[in-house]
Amino acid sequence: MATTRQLQAIAAQHGTPVLVIDHEIIRRNYAKYKRHLPRVQAYYAVKANPAPEIVRTLYGAGASFDVASLPEFMLVYEKIKHLPPKDQQDFIWDKIIFANPTKPKETLQALDRYKPLVTYDNRNELLKIKQHAPHAGVVLRLRVPNTGSMVELSSKFGCDSGEAVDLICAAFDIGLEVEGLSFHVGSQCANFENFVQALNIAAAVLREANTRGHAIKILDIGGGFPVAYDRHVKPFSLLARMINAEIDRLFPRNMEILAEPGRFFVATAATLVARIIGKAVRDGKLCFFIDDSVYHTFSGIIFDHCQYHLKAFKKGATEVCAVYGQTCDGMDVISQSEQLPDLQIDDLVYSEKIGAYSNASSTWFNGFPPATVVHINQ
Ligand SMILES: *Cc1c(COP(=O)(O)O)cnc(C)c1O
Repeated sequence: MATTRQLQAIAAQHGTPVLVIDHEIIRRNYAKYKRHLPRVQAYYAVKANPAPEIVRTLYGAGASFDVASLPEFMLVYEKIKHLPPKDQQDFIWDKIIFANPTKPKETLQALDRYKPLVTYDNRNELLKIKQHAPHAGVVLRLRVPNTGSMVELSSKFGCDSGEAVDLICAAFDIGLEVEGLSFHVGSQCANFENFVQALNIAAAVLREANTRGHAIKILDIGGGFPVAYDRHVKPFSLLARMINAEIDRLFPRNMEILAEPGRFFVATAATLVARIIGKAVRDGKLCFFIDDSVYHTFSGIIFDHCQYHLKAFKKGATEVCAVYGQTCDGMDVISQSEQLPDLQIDDLVYSEKIGAYSNASSTWFNGFPPATVVHINQ
């Protein structure tokens, strides 16, 4: 990771706010994932941070990709299309899954020529796929418990396990091939039992599909792999052991297992450097204003339910203070209680582990542009 001296030098060169993305850490995170889950092919969820540089680094490390829209699909396809092996079709499926269960028909029409692998979780989506992307392979998304995950997904996505086998048969009935089952336990999943339960639900659906004559080859265990934002997050190695044990116990050896980690690869790879642009005392509490906001790199505070902490480069005794964003919105609060020294206007602060769901959802609200992004160790 960049040293504080490097971060300050980058801020001096590029101005603030600046998001520094360290590709050595992305490669390390990928290697850690593969070391602990050797049977699992990782499809990086591009939405976590769609920088093309990250796609290139992860492709080089051996990753595949989970995309949620036509632009994301094309971003990955453009990066990798010049490198196909002999079989173009295997290549698309090996490298890209379109895992957004609901797709506009125009997207399906545009995707059909690539014979993509796409997910569905209801009958209307299935008919839409049949009509507009008849060459697609399909993966059924199951609804599984999201208890204790930071971001809940189960109320919006996934079919109930009770209707799963009917939805599998419905696909085969209209001439679509169900290639796999998928689920998502919720993002930043701190409750590892979610994975155990989801794997057991998937195994039961597979068994029943088998008895109805449909063998399914792929199991996609989704995302949700937690990042150690703080000390309370249990180690990834423990989660991996639980997943490996359940996979070995529940599924045949030749089952293809894939996953869609997003946050896990990129969250710890980025640090934001911002600048103090204002300072006030309110009700006796020191308040700093910085040149970033919850509409920009700190968007995860709103959309990702993630709390980020700020650190100063300056040493000195700290006190509890509030940190506000640069916009005119009263809800643009980055933190009500940070420990910072008595900083001055133009002093720099930084925030670590801010690579996932951060600048990915940055806006231009109030006319402020998104932070500059600087890639290091590419
Ligand atoms: C967001 C998302 C992911 C990535 O989730 P993380 O919690 O960042 O690992 C994976 N798959 C799907 C379908 C998603 O919507």
